[in-house]
Amino acid sequence: MRQSKLFTKTLREASSDETASNAQLLIRGGFAYKNSAGIYTMLPLGWRVIQNIARIIREEMDAIGGQELYMPALVERRYLDATNRWDVEIGFEACGKADKKAAFALGWTHEEVVTEIASKYISSYKDMPFAAYQIQTKFRNEARAKSGLLRGREFLMKDLYSFHASQEDFERYYQAVRGAYEKIFTRCGLKAIYTVAAGGAFTAAHTHEFQVISPVGEDTIFICGSCAYAENSEIAKLASGAICPQCGGTVHEEKSIEVGNIFPLGVKYTEAFNVTYLDEKGSKHPVIMGSYGIGIGRVMATIVEVSHDDKGIRWPKNIAPFNVHMIELLPKDEAKRAAVRSAAETLYADLTRAGISVLYDEREGLSAGEKFADCDLIGIPVRLVISEKTIAQDSVEVKYRVKDSADLVKRADIVAHCAR
Ligand code: ATP
Ligand code: MG
Repeated sequence: MRQSKLFTKTLREASSDETASNAQLLIRGGFAYKNSAGIYTMLPLGWRVIQNIARIIREEMDAIGGQELYMPALVERRYLDATNRWDVEIGFEACGKADKKAAFALGWTHEEVVTEIASKYISSYKDMPFAAYQIQTKFRNEARAKSGLLRGREFLMKDLYSFHASQEDFERYYQAVRGAYEKIFTRCGLKAIYTVAAGGAFTAAHTHEFQVISPVGEDTIFICGSCAYAENSEIAKLASGAICPQCGGTVHEEKSIEVGNIFPLGVKYTEAFNVTYLDEKGSKHPVIMGSYGIGIGRVMATIVEVSHDDKGIRWPKNIAPFNVHMIELLPKDEAKRAAVRSAAETLYADLTRAGISVLYDEREGLSAGEKFADCDLIGIPVRLVISEKTIAQDSVEVKYRVKDSADLVKRADIVAHCAR
């Protein structure tokens, strides 16, 4: 992508009401646009980041047998009446005030909807297990809006739901999802801690959260310094300095961001929708369910929170909007200008042909300092510079976003270098 064609530009300042670093940097870098409190547009750079996160999530969901579907965002009242969730404060009523029989809410989660769908396809133990997921917009009437994109009122979520004929089979799958989540967060460059959390109103068991340590987190966890056993402070029987119940190590307190959550649902939803199956002997049982969420916008914002410096974002390789940011510095002299431009165009074509995505800064009339500042703000992991100086040495300057020093690499070797 040629940077002069990108319709967004970096901004010197984000809106003054945004205090969170994630919102400041994502807005200034041209990743996100704030439409209303807690409501953001994903601009082209931000949408590329979201697609990278979504691709990783899809790969890991598919690897544990998840089947992708897409449910409606408008959820008819009858679904939520079935579980007494129409009036919960988190929801937005979308339409139908006048006609109470056909009122709709904007979905904040989809347990009821997926359970009713599943009820049409489950009759025997042979119909299970299965798991279905979607990546879809969720709507929540969130009160606080000081966390930027960490807490939106409209946001993208991956929600997976699993259906089982036995508790043992459910528990096996719950562990498979835990493993998939660990892979997802690692691939996103996040260190997420598996944390025991409150059971929710409907199940005696605990749920589990994936928490990333950050001073801006709204959650507090108690974590063991030796084995990383962790509990959310909402339920913790632990305190700072306590002995870890798992390994005898010492527990300390941290602020953290919940990036994912996995729930044993038991039979709450399947009983409400009368979803039963016949076992091998022909007797009837309720189906056992789990649900598993990841906030995609929140993952993006969390990466920014844990991976930035005073100059801007430092995207991990797998998540960055482009693989490399190539900067052309044109000299004043006409003939030398043409030589730099031609070398840059050739490299842009070679990199693109090799499957390396490039943001090519060919904007004219900007100083090197201005281009470098934009590059640091946008945060692509690899910066290439082509200038009169590098051409004189038949080289390209390579600098990594996370390092201060730069190296010269021969032009003939640069594509292979970037492909690593
Ligand atoms: P929180 O405790 O932060 O309010 P939650 O427990 O209500 O979140 P879930 O219903 O479990 O969240 O949703 C699954 C995932 O969706 C969460 O783990 C989080 O990553 C994400 N998420 C939840 N609420 C928001 C929000 N308002 N904005 C962005 N992501 C969110
Ligand atoms: Mg929570």
